[in-house]
Amino acid sequence: MAYDPNNIFAKILRGEAPSYKIYEDAKTFAFLDIMPQARGHTLVIPKTEAETIFDVEPDMLAAMIETTQELAAVVKRVVEAPGVMIAQLNGAAAGQTVFHVHMHIIPRWEGADFKLHAREMAPAAELKDLQAKILAALP
Ligand code: 5GP
Repeated sequence: MAYDPNNIFAKILRGEAPSYKIYEDAKTFAFLDIMPQARGHTLVIPKTEAETIFDVEPDMLAAMIETTQELAAVVKRVVEAPGVMIAQLNGAAAGQTVFHVHMHIIPRWEGADFKLHAREMAPAAELKDLQAKILAALP
């Protein structure tokens, strides 16, 4: 399947669609998931046209993982989560719904299940508040 430049993350990258942006550098971009599976659910994408982990150049893959490591620590601290799950889905059969490669940062609490994938929109006020808190906590 060819990369679709009109997927929602490509539009967010081009500034054609809005996002609760929390971080950007030369190779990566990160923003809050609007249908979070847990409070603080964050997505990290590389600035390259790649659908899955199999299509992304090694340097962009490394940058995506580096940004994920840095932001996961910040998000974990901001939402006061004892654990954090890092996930990455490739192909519809694996549950991928947006075909621009990305990492999920999903804070976790013992005994608390995370919500269903890409199902329920979080209130805008909640996302905005969290965005401000994460931005304030970034080094
Ligand atoms: P995937 O299923 O491809 O691994 O993950 C896609 C993620 O993108 C899901 O967690 C879903 O909630 C999220 N998502 C879908 N559309 C949008 C959107 O327009 N904005 C944001 N911020 N997240 C989205």
